[in-house]
Amino acid sequence: MLTHPKPYSGLKASLLTQHGKESVICPQLLDSNGLEVVHISGYDTDELGTFTRDIPRYGSQLDAARKKARVGMELSGSMLGIASEGAFDNDPYTGMLAWNYELVVLIDDIRKLEVIGFFGGHAQSTSRQVSSWDELNALLSEAQFTTHQLVVRPDDEYHPECRKGIKDLESLKEAFDWATNLSKKGNVFVENDLRAHTNPTRMANILKATQDLSRKMNSVCPECESPGFWITERKKGLPCSSCEAPTNLPIANVWSCVKCAYKKEEMLLDQIKADPSKCDYCNP
Ligand SMILES: [Zn+2]
Ligand SMILES: [Zn+2]
Repeated sequence: MLTHPKPYSGLKASLLTQHGKESVICPQLLDSNGLEVVHISGYDTDELGTFTRDIPRYGSQLDAARKKARVGMELSGSMLGIASEGAFDNDPYTGMLAWNYELVVLIDDIRKLEVIGFFGGHAQSTSRQVSSWDELNALLSEAQFTTHQLVVRPDDEYHPECRKGIKDLESLKEAFDWATNLSKKGNVFVENDLRAHTNPTRMANILKATQDLSRKMNSVCPECESPGFWITERKKGLPCSSCEAPTNLPIANVWSCVKCAYKKEEMLLDQIKADPSKCDYCNP
């Protein structure tokens, strides 16, 4: 992996975003890549989708990020565009925890390429239907209120009206009373606000995705010098220490260029042989 010189040093990119994400993305790309990122505002990215189900998202997570980056490039006339997009799901290990995937994309029309940073981690995303103020109060520590803000709506998660960005007990009580009055059966739906500026756990995950993007932007292809040269595949087949048969344990990382066809295999040297307990022949 070549890391010098930094391919984006001295260049300028647009960042179309709202909800304060520029506060983590701009300094990171300036410090690590020498890229000056100009925050573009004045376009409501919520029109491209929200987490509160009012507006469905434009295509996949990556499609949505690309769309935002393109809009920012058009508005600013920039050849480089950055945008981010988050998604929430269950964790990939147990399927029982709230999980947050963050993606930050760089579209580079100078070199005609795209580099994508990712991070997946714990999400602060509590949600519950409650029928009393006491029940709501019992939920507050799990929801990490007040460091993390809340959204309140009448009835259930599908009610079209809501109060977002609730950050103190007084406005929570007011929102609870408002929702109770509008509710058919006196139920109120409470959930964490997932917008970045209201949810520090998510903001930290956006920083980690940006750091991933930074590393990839500084890594260039040994063949054509395009940025974004990174691991795209982990090859399995570490031989068993007893019978030498290939196991499912990783043996090498495959690095690929985003522009040309160049690939490089890098053997993983931390393990020479697999324990026979991992071998399908020795331990079927
Ligand atoms: Zn074996
Ligand atoms: Zn290349």
